[in-house]
Amino acid sequence: MVRKKYNSAYARKALKLRRRRRARLFMFGSLFSVILVMIMTFALGGSDNIFGERNFGDYSQISGSSINFSSSSVEQSSDTQVAASNGYTICVDPGHGFDDPGTSYDGVLESEINLAVALKLRDLLVQNGFEVIMTHETNSSPDISLLSLDSRCQLANSSDVDLYISLHCNSYEDDESVSGIRLYHYTHASEASIQYAETVAAAIASELDATCPVFGENYQVTREVSMPSILVEMGFITNEGDRTLFQDEAWQEKMAAGAFNGIKSYCETYIG
Ligand SMILES: [Zn+2]
Repeated sequence: MVRKKYNSAYARKALKLRRRRRARLFMFGSLFSVILVMIMTFALGGSDNIFGERNFGDYSQISGSSINFSSSSVEQSSDTQVAASNGYTICVDPGHGFDDPGTSYDGVLESEINLAVALKLRDLLVQNGFEVIMTHETNSSPDISLLSLDSRCQLANSSDVDLYISLHCNSYEDDESVSGIRLYHYTHASEASIQYAETVAAAIASELDATCPVFGENYQVTREVSMPSILVEMGFITNEGDRTLFQDEAWQEKMAAGAFNGIKSYCETYIG
């Protein structure tokens, strides 16, 4: 059963590498064509040639709009160095967002903490050659439909994702002394999901010098995605100590590093 899972993961990875090679060939082919056309345009005197009525100025505008589009997506991770792809794709899901703050306490919003850690995790993954699919990269999205649990699961299931991770903060107003990190897989999770959960929990515990117990639970994002999936409750917003840590950028970076180390370790050890 496990063997079959790994074989299928290997096949997906090989397929993705083939797709990327084709995409690279297409990109270089397209670039070569554009350069050739530009040289011919200059040689033939600009406007009255192969572009028909579209003169060189029009062509520049078209190029400009696509350049603007690319640079706006690069801006989202402007500090991120992008490494060569390692063939793995991770879906990172900051819990809640937009007009759903999740739980909140003493002015601290769960959705903001989830997003802050998720963006740090995204950057670490991208810097190390992972492809990352974010369920959202801002909490000001006007399109709430993108943030429904159904949409998040559909996005992952339709995107050839290897692993899914959802980040949340816990809450327990009845007893504010309750604290600590907890990590969840689906109650009836696959062996791969359980192994993934235990690997990430160990890495988080090590990075933060804390305990990170693993539980089975019936969360939609662990139940309805087709790849190994975990949900991390990074601590309790109702606990003063955890709430203070949530707002500490150094702690956010350590939490992201722990999750990253676990994801990398699981990929290298169990997917190959
Ligand atoms: Zn939550």
